[in-house]
Amino acid sequence: MAENNISRRSRRQRRRSKETIAALVVIVAMLVCMAAVVISLSFAGSGVEIPARQAAGTPIRVESGAQQTAQAGQAGETQGSSFRQLSDPFLVLVNDEVPLPDNWEVTPSFIGEETVDIRIYDQLNSMMLAAEEDGVSLWICSGYRSVEEQEIILDRDIKLHMNNGMSEDEARELALRTIARPGHSEHHTGFVVDLNDVDDAFEETDTYRWLCEHAEDYGFVQRYRSDKVDITGIDNESWHYRYVGVENARQMNELNMCLEEYVQYLKEQGVT
Ligand SMILES: [Zn+2]
Repeated sequence: MAENNISRRSRRQRRRSKETIAALVVIVAMLVCMAAVVISLSFAGSGVEIPARQAAGTPIRVESGAQQTAQAGQAGETQGSSFRQLSDPFLVLVNDEVPLPDNWEVTPSFIGEETVDIRIYDQLNSMMLAAEEDGVSLWICSGYRSVEEQEIILDRDIKLHMNNGMSEDEARELALRTIARPGHSEHHTGFVVDLNDVDDAFEETDTYRWLCEHAEDYGFVQRYRSDKVDITGIDNESWHYRYVGVENARQMNELNMCLEEYVQYLKEQGVT
């Protein structure tokens, strides 16, 4: 009996330990599943690996490319892929109709965590320092963007829409409403910075008022303004500044012209 009791007890113990192991296996399996779900969800948002400086939390606002075609051709020969650029590189035109010139070269130069072409570095740096001296808070949230980076941004957005059940064509169409086609973003030039918050509220800040007064002294113009949407095809962007050179910036503001108009105007003046 005693032996029987012992063997029954040990059988019970073995059964209990088997149950414990089974329970542990189930718990571990559940944890593994949960971890897998968490990991896959966190990757679903990004879809494509993006460069470190974008992943560092800098918001990327890419100008809309979709509306741009609406007014294409309005400025005559200033549109189209056969567009003749002026010889002054600071007046290079890039929009939804006019791609970045094939031979365009950028020498990226770091300013903070972003880069711009080395040709505008000194002027941009001077503007940043002047703002600081005036007690104005100015920072660069986005600068030079390569065509490859633009492709990554576009692909990521397309995959995001496809994950939400869209076909690839639908996803691409939707993505292109808010993201410029690779090769057609002005950020490719290296002459562009998005400043501070890529947000319409930026227009209400002292920093924006300071820029309205001083940006041209450093060769920068607000590229997309509310009164030029019918020409640029892009909504008002109080944060997007384009370097065109001091004289050009002053003249553009005086003539109240956007770059499309100004380039056309110069061509009519015989500038090549
Ligand atoms: Zn921009």
